[in-house]
Amino acid sequence: MDKLIIEVRANEYANRNRNRNVPWLPREIAGDAAECREAGASIIHFHGRSAAGAPDNRFETCRDTILAIRESSPILVHPTLGYVTVTASFEERFANVRRLAEQDATRPDIVPMDMGSVNVDLYDSQRAALRTPGAVYVNPTDMLIELAQGIRQGGMKPSLVAWNVSFVRQIQAFSSMSLLDDPLFISLVLTEKILIAGHPGTAQGLDAYLMFLPQDGSVQWSVTHIGGRFDTLLDKIILAGGHVQIGLGDYPYAEDGCPTNAQLVERVAARAKALGREVASPDDARRMLRLPPR
Ligand code: ZN
Repeated sequence: MDKLIIEVRANEYANRNRNRNVPWLPREIAGDAAECREAGASIIHFHGRSAAGAPDNRFETCRDTILAIRESSPILVHPTLGYVTVTASFEERFANVRRLAEQDATRPDIVPMDMGSVNVDLYDSQRAALRTPGAVYVNPTDMLIELAQGIRQGGMKPSLVAWNVSFVRQIQAFSSMSLLDDPLFISLVLTEKILIAGHPGTAQGLDAYLMFLPQDGSVQWSVTHIGGRFDTLLDKIILAGGHVQIGLGDYPYAEDGCPTNAQLVERVAARAKALGREVASPDDARRMLRLPPR
């Protein structure tokens, strides 16, 4: 079985109310990245954040974060395209990555492509009320085609994000149209608590995706669990040959004594070792995903 790629989802748009260890600023993210690499992570996904935690989509912030990460760690770099904080035009969504890709030092290794559109309202299940009725994550197919071409031309690898099975079908269509290179690197989104946009974070939620993935080795799949813990799912993913994305961006783990991202990565790595699966280094991940060497 392939080695396990552990990707740390460092911050997303998480606040610090329940865990103060969420990194926001470039130097904080870079420090986190180095610790997570030591703990077994081979990829870091991050969002630019201001000192007050607001989304910061400036080119300079992304550039400074990548340079700071690479100063102290060989971990693969996977910035955001801004999620719902950036409009759905290709030009706006790709502007930062296009500039970052011009220089070896700042070129991202991996770029996200959410392969469809989805309602992403925050839902308060305790009060049975929506907090944000009307939040839509818009990713039109024509924009995705341009994105696929731009990422390929820039010498980067797309992380193909699926929020439900229809996104997997879109990935397969893009692959058939030769818009994507093998192996496909697919990120399967499970969601719990405040987000009901993805499959539930259960074995059934995961199996519903896996039933639709090709089993011919053309796919490397990884699982994100937004708003929930992996717990029992972790063993299932590790034993089935999947990869794991974990981090304070998705869940605060406050009930565990507010761990750091590196401590979360360490737990996954320890579980993999206990189950007999080796953990991938950044070089291993680069080879497995057929990324150009740096
Ligand atoms: Zn993200």
